Amino acid sequence: MKHNFGAGPGILPHEVLKQAAEAVVDLNGIGLSILEISHRSVEFEAVLDEAIRLVKELFSVPEGYSVLFLQGGASTQFAMVPYNLLSSTGTAAYVESGVWANKAIKEAKYFGGVNVLATAKEDNFRHIPKDYAIPADAAYFHITSNNTIYGTQLHEFPKSPVPMVCDMSSDIFSRKVNVADFGLIYAGAQKNMGPAGTTLVIVKDDILGKVDRKIPAMLNYQTQIEGGSMYNTPPCFAIYVSMLTLRWLKANGGVEAIEKANNAKAAALYEEIDRNPLFKGVCVPEDRSKMNVCFLTENPEHEKPFLKLCDEKDIVGIKGHRSAGGFRASIYNALPITSVYVLIETMQEFAEKYK
Ligand code: PLP
Repeated sequence: MKHNFGAGPGILPHEVLKQAAEAVVDLNGIGLSILEISHRSVEFEAVLDEAIRLVKELFSVPEGYSVLFLQGGASTQFAMVPYNLLSSTGTAAYVESGVWANKAIKEAKYFGGVNVLATAKEDNFRHIPKDYAIPADAAYFHITSNNTIYGTQLHEFPKSPVPMVCDMSSDIFSRKVNVADFGLIYAGAQKNMGPAGTTLVIVKDDILGKVDRKIPAMLNYQTQIEGGSMYNTPPCFAIYVSMLTLRWLKANGGVEAIEKANNAKAAALYEEIDRNPLFKGVCVPEDRSKMNVCFLTENPEHEKPFLKLCDEKDIVGIKGHRSAGGFRASIYNALPITSVYVLIETMQEFAEKYK
């Protein structure tokens, strides 16, 4: 088995992969594959019901919120959010904390006014801006909880006077959040929740229906709520594997337990980055992500030989994003701490060799 530090799609629990593989041939002994059962069948309805129930339970979703499994990735949410929440005469407030936030901002501009409250662009997104006030007349306030490419994470959410919309694609279910603080949460499944192909949306029902434009059915949250995420054929397999991953999370103590494990993994790895003279962290320490750990070699010439050593140790997916460079170790929920220890030992071995 490889040590998979890939950023996205990310690692899934091995037992989930095995169950998913079995279900591709025969779902629970019914003689049909998860890929060929009708989405209107009792078997699939049970899968979707359980997935929704697990989201509600694991995240303590309060009354008055709907849980949706949609398609089109988080990138479709960049447009769907303003389509549904921003009228052409209104203004939405955004924080530009990375490339994904920037893409969300660009999409929102098609629908109404956009007020970028703060940006970290001049710093190549090595920190998360926090010095801003959220206008009380904004249609909503949009933030990215974890910046996958740059390795920064918001450790404390601001208090927002208007519905707070959050892109949690790369840290959903990695830590406790108070869902009641948010108007809408969205996340592409493929990092901490399942395979690519479905997007989780948790939306507070009473923030909808306030814009008067016509919205195409597939992009209308209300249609999706009324259709129970089945306005059209849903991505059955992606929802099934997400459900299995959520089951795995529950069986392993839920979000509270995984948060502890994630804290331990991140602490061990950052400690080594700070201690090892051949490496250095990229981001400001207070905003360091516990999901995507970005680091550099002090000497750029060490990059290639370190990657080669990682390859020899079966460490994969560690090369930084093309726009950030260096290294990025994604340490999502399903990555065992033993893999983090292997990476740490490899950094130590490298330092011995190249000191
Ligand atoms: N938002 C964040 C924080 C991401 O990390 C990504 C992808 O990596 C996206 C949005 C885009 O997601 P998708 O590929 O599901 O559209």
